[in-house]
Amino acid sequence: MKLIASNELYRCRLFWVTEDDARDATGYEIKRSIVRHAGSAVMMAVDDKRRILLVRQYRLPARAYLWELPAGKLDPGEKALQAARRELIEETGYRARRWQKLISFYPSPGYVSERMTIFLALDLTAGEAHPMDDERIETRWFSPQQIEQMIRTNKIQDGKTIIGYFVWKSRHAR
Ligand SMILES: [Mg+2]
Repeated sequence: MKLIASNELYRCRLFWVTEDDARDATGYEIKRSIVRHAGSAVMMAVDDKRRILLVRQYRLPARAYLWELPAGKLDPGEKALQAARRELIEETGYRARRWQKLISFYPSPGYVSERMTIFLALDLTAGEAHPMDDERIETRWFSPQQIEQMIRTNKIQDGKTIIGYFVWKSRHAR
């Protein structure tokens, strides 16, 4: 598909919106409004007891407090792993000595360009968190059993958290 036109409709701190028009050689055409996003890093911090660090914050689009893996948007020119290191410290205060990529995916490719990359963060040391002014973040450690119970009972409703947990479990099963 070849991009014929792309017009910016809106821009804010987190994303921008374009109206795009693409066509292939046969004349097949797709027109869409697209939320453009720099991409996100997601951090799955696991400690020596195999506990997993989740954060809880109010999510305005969901109109609810959600438990999630900590995550953040890539800054301009930043690689996903750099963003992961920075965001883990900012949101939780933890530093990790070992990092492993778990998976990359598009959470909602129908209208959002955002691509998420989940990293496993290991060998952790605790420190002081530095959240943004509009972030009020609670952090807590959960066992795999607790996480699975929370997924089953809809206490975890965040997609990247469910994906990250099950990809980690499939690779690091005991
Ligand atoms: Mg965040």
